[in-house]
Amino acid sequence: MATSAAHVLRVLEPATEQTLAELPEAQVEDVDRAIAKAKAAFPAWRGMAPATRADLMRRLAQAIADRTEDLARLESRNVGKPIGDARGEIGMVVQAFNYFAGAPERLFGKTIPVAGGIDMTFREPLGVVGMITPWNFPLLLATWKVAPAMAAGNTMVLKPAELTPLTALEVETIALEAGIPEGVLNVVVGPGRIVGERMVNHPDIAKIAFTGSTEVGKRIGQLASQSIKRVTLELGGKSANVIFADADLEQAAHSAPLAVFGNAGQDCCARSRILVERSALDRFMESFEKAVTALRVGDPLDEQTEMGPLISADQRATVASYVGDGAPVAFRGSSPDGPGYWFPPTVLCPVSNDDRVAREEVFGPVAAVIPFDDESEAIRLANDTIYGLSGSIWTRDGAKALRVARAIDTGTISINSNTSVRVHTPFGGFKQSGLGRELGPHALEYYTELKNVFISTR
Ligand code: NDP
Repeated sequence: MATSAAHVLRVLEPATEQTLAELPEAQVEDVDRAIAKAKAAFPAWRGMAPATRADLMRRLAQAIADRTEDLARLESRNVGKPIGDARGEIGMVVQAFNYFAGAPERLFGKTIPVAGGIDMTFREPLGVVGMITPWNFPLLLATWKVAPAMAAGNTMVLKPAELTPLTALEVETIALEAGIPEGVLNVVVGPGRIVGERMVNHPDIAKIAFTGSTEVGKRIGQLASQSIKRVTLELGGKSANVIFADADLEQAAHSAPLAVFGNAGQDCCARSRILVERSALDRFMESFEKAVTALRVGDPLDEQTEMGPLISADQRATVASYVGDGAPVAFRGSSPDGPGYWFPPTVLCPVSNDDRVAREEVFGPVAAVIPFDDESEAIRLANDTIYGLSGSIWTRDGAKALRVARAIDTGTISINSNTSVRVHTPFGGFKQSGLGRELGPHALEYYTELKNVFISTR
């Protein structure tokens, strides 16, 4: 990233509050330059033989795999996430580049039967795609955009969050070393309201792919509408973890802590509303308490750690505001003293679905347990939110599991599991959780335009 160096950005390590790096902060002229580079690189990249593009992407995947430990440590320190989680994320980055490396040679169109000739469709790249990403899964969420966009023949400008730009900058360099041509992937680190908005307003950006808060997503949608710019939005969530009395309660309780406290709760898929059938509430809470108090919270670089600190002092203050005087704290886990933006895993019970903590995305380690009486009430409560990103259902009754899965308005839902994301399957939100889908076979639709060509045979 070349910038006009007047502004310096200080990047912190949340577990120690120490400076991790200082870098030049990009301004409008820097993002304009990056967009011009991406525009200049586009014709050759889209015109490259599909097998060559695929091969370069596989080389990039291998180059990242070779750097897994460095990148994982950097991500762990910059976000404060456990090193084991960071390694898993870099593994998924590699998997995503390999998965989408299969796409250039399989970007099929269709032939459509018509009178008087032959009709065929093509998937054309969009041009320069602007990508704006958040701080909670920095490289992973950037890759969900970069890999399909690259495979489809687009060039791109990526703006990572200022709090966590370091791994994206590393990968910009790794891509060049792996042979991805200059200008295909450009990383610009600068403030969202300046650099991000410039990307959204720039006439040479064909599409904005955004992950972040619903609030900023709405603004991007408004600005992008001025030029009918394509937009995909991956926004917030308030997902329900629905636990029926006939479930394997031990397993549901054992799995529930990391489903909400993983990444210190800073996860758009966090199951932060735990809906428990009233007749099983006491049994569930007993096992859940054991699992929460056993959670290892501490130094992100310690191999045993399961939860680290929050990203910043501001984030900690926001999270604390949901656990004020009078909050129905059922139990809490541990957290270290001393420097670092620590907040203990906290379980509130009973919570009404109308309470603020059940309506807003906390984005921190606070779980709200909400009792329900029957299947229809569980569905009503799960859907009583502006969001619809993820969720889980725990029951031994297969028919009930499928009935409830179909009835909940959400983009991805798991039965007897708290997983949300696989490189091979679509991910995205209903309602105010977003627009469009990432990953899986559907992602390419969002990085291409559909073109129809008719040729007369008369
Ligand atoms: P923000 O929406 O504040 O920021 C996300 C990105 O947008 C950052 O790069 C930020 O830049 C940039 N940005 C901020 N303002 C603007 C603007 N006016 N125009 C253009 N870009 C802008 O979210 P957070 O970073 O605080 O991330 C947390 C939120 O992201 C949570 O609400 C969470 O639910 C959501 N999220 C959703 C996911 C999903 O897949 N659905 C996944 C992960 C998070 P900078 O900060 O550098 O100024």
